[in-house]
Amino acid sequence: MFWLRTLLWCALWATLGLLAGSVFTPAIGWSIPCLAFFVMLIGRGRSVARVARWAQDPGTAPPADVGAWDDVLAPLYRYLRMQSRVLHESHDALQNMVAGAQALPDAVVTLNNGFQIDWCNRTAMRHLGLRLPYDRGSKLLNLVRVPDFVAYAQSGEWPEPILVRLSNSGQERVMMLQLARYGQNQHLLISRDVTQIEKLETTRRDFVANVSHELRTPLTVLTGFLETLRDMPQDAMQAEQREQYISMMYEQAQRMQAIVEDLLALSTLESSPGAGPSIVNMSELLQRARQQAEALSGGRHAFEWHIDQGLDLLGSAGELTSAVSNLLTNAVRYTPDGGKIAVYWEADEEGSAHYRVQDTGIGIAARHIPRLTERFYRVDRGRSRAVGGTGLGLAITKHVAMRHDAGLGIESEPCKGSTFSLNFPAERVSRAQG
Ligand code: ADP
Repeated sequence: MFWLRTLLWCALWATLGLLAGSVFTPAIGWSIPCLAFFVMLIGRGRSVARVARWAQDPGTAPPADVGAWDDVLAPLYRYLRMQSRVLHESHDALQNMVAGAQALPDAVVTLNNGFQIDWCNRTAMRHLGLRLPYDRGSKLLNLVRVPDFVAYAQSGEWPEPILVRLSNSGQERVMMLQLARYGQNQHLLISRDVTQIEKLETTRRDFVANVSHELRTPLTVLTGFLETLRDMPQDAMQAEQREQYISMMYEQAQRMQAIVEDLLALSTLESSPGAGPSIVNMSELLQRARQQAEALSGGRHAFEWHIDQGLDLLGSAGELTSAVSNLLTNAVRYTPDGGKIAVYWEADEEGSAHYRVQDTGIGIAARHIPRLTERFYRVDRGRSRAVGGTGLGLAITKHVAMRHDAGLGIESEPCKGSTFSLNFPAERVSRAQG
């Protein structure tokens, strides 16, 4: 309605001019509307200058009272505010998406049509050694040069991911890489670190192979004897020889049984929750272990016992029995006749409890010590079999120790002897009253 107001003002000044012209002189009559137009022109000029100043920074509120500009600036400013809000919202949404992509444990790289890098998240920098913004625009295949991956990318069809081994800062990692198309001929590369899963898979495969190997030997011997017994006529074999065959078969069956029992013990330890806090009477437990060890030794060794009678533990009696007995029977098995075995069960000044089995046996070379608790690891396979070992005793003992927050200590010197210890923290110790 600005034009109406202007028209009214013009009519008013023209009327005043006419009146003044008829009352005074015509010159005075003309000068009144001229003066009014002059004042209006100055006002318009100032308004245009204020609008021009505002146009330099249209984010601020527009100037008020700028005449005809009021009608233009108000809707323009409203429009600008709305656009700015939309822009902010889009920016926030984009930032959220980028933050989400950055938080992904998988690596994500966006690539253009020619496999040039547009963007990647932090995990991609770690997995693939990319650097942004430095590598933006570089060809991915020049940076990830593993031949299998290059062939996979160039095949143009990626229904399945591919496993590749990448070396990053001297460490070899196994990555599962998958390419996909998106948008307008763009590509997405996703990579997942599967090193741990691969390791577990290898361990599982080795374990199955080891178990099969361990069981196959006694099974072959057993089958051989059974075939001989089946194929040989009754009267072709003497009773004494038959007895010998049967006792050898029994020995092999016992060996298989020992392996299966140890495997079950390990599997129970791995699958059941940690040892509960029930009080285990260690004096009684050690007394039973002592009887077994002395029976196994059959008087071939000299034993020394240093047992703190009131020193008990919080844990599982069954598990502790197996750990304590494993160390003790190993000492008997790997100490030649006439050797000494000393057993200690005592607490130190800090309240921690220590079970130690010291023998003067064959000892172990330093290079074997870190591997002794691996399943089926033996220093001397033949010797272990000869003494009825399964190769699982120390693996079980290590597990039991871990479940009781204890450490397994091994000190040994070939031909001199070994000391195996279980070291329990003070929190696991319980003192029997009286
Ligand atoms: P095994 O059933 O073969 O004894 P373990 O897991 O108990 O299996 O022990 C692993 C290996 O550690 C044994 O085969 C043996 O070579 C070595 N070892 C264990 N205890 C002793 C010891 N007291 N003295 C010498 N060697 C030992």
